[in-house]
Amino acid sequence: MRLSQSILPAVALAIAVGGGAALAQQAAAPADPIETALRAAKTFAGLDHTGTLAALCVLPATGPGADTLPAYLAGAAPARSTWYADPAKVFDNLYFVGGSIHSAWALNTSDGIILIDTVYSYNSEELIVGGMTKLGLDPKLVKYVIITHGHGDHVGGAKLMQDRFGAKIVMGAADWDFIEQSKERFGTADNSIKPRRDVVATDGMKVTLGDTSVTLIATPGHTQGAFSLSFEVKDQGRPLMVAYSGGTAFNFVNTIANFQTYIESQRRMAEMAERTKATVIMTNHSAYDNAVGKAQMVPGRKAGQPHPFEVGQDAVTRYFKTMEGCARVAQLKLEMAAKAN
Ligand SMILES: [Zn+2]
Repeated sequence: MRLSQSILPAVALAIAVGGGAALAQQAAAPADPIETALRAAKTFAGLDHTGTLAALCVLPATGPGADTLPAYLAGAAPARSTWYADPAKVFDNLYFVGGSIHSAWALNTSDGIILIDTVYSYNSEELIVGGMTKLGLDPKLVKYVIITHGHGDHVGGAKLMQDRFGAKIVMGAADWDFIEQSKERFGTADNSIKPRRDVVATDGMKVTLGDTSVTLIATPGHTQGAFSLSFEVKDQGRPLMVAYSGGTAFNFVNTIANFQTYIESQRRMAEMAERTKATVIMTNHSAYDNAVGKAQMVPGRKAGQPHPFEVGQDAVTRYFKTMEGCARVAQLKLEMAAKAN
């Protein structure tokens, strides 16, 4: 819109005259609840969780993705330079084998390996199988694969791990259903990336291998079968608890009730993190939690310097409060729109 020359001075005058009154009015007016919720989420994020804040609060994906054949299954996998990241040993018993956008982690135990998430079908061979081999881990030793939710960017390598290495795939019931019912996303003509239904995750379940257990916490919201995780890692022998956030963006059916489910899941994870005194936060999206950058900082760490993933209990709790806060912003928008109608 362009203001015509003739009314500009009048507008300027109105601002000059009305400025003081407007300010007084502003002070008295009740705060905009959406703005207040957004400010709270930003405060919780601080400088620790800007990636997730940007993804959820600033540019939230909305609405469910259609069950259509993704381009990469039709032979159009994105360029390697857009997803490749070097594998890395991050803790004594935990290795990063994900990419620059999505995470995958190999948790080494006294009796084999638990793999957490499996990136896409087009890059799991190089990132996971290739990455583990580069790090001296034998992919044949993967006994369990925990999938935090059944979207293609986390479950893409599950079938490969199931078929080639006989690993057991652990995933929530609703997401097993989702995969089975999907005709396009996972059901290419030859079902090339659809894993067979295997272990059904339940709330509080422990996946135990040798000396290590991973506790699964149902955190529905992003998908109905999404799970988050709690497990121990060791940093030069020192045990640390990890809170691993499954699910993420708001690309589900946007209803007030669905956002409430999502919010309650974040509260459960905040409680779990506090109960276990988690000082390490990890997510299934390396692009949101800067996993690749942090992993690169591990080898150069000097004696006495903190581990780059050890952010402390307060920052871990704030991560889940940031997610809760951003979901509340989105939920408030729906509530206000419902009131206006
Ligand atoms: Zn997803």
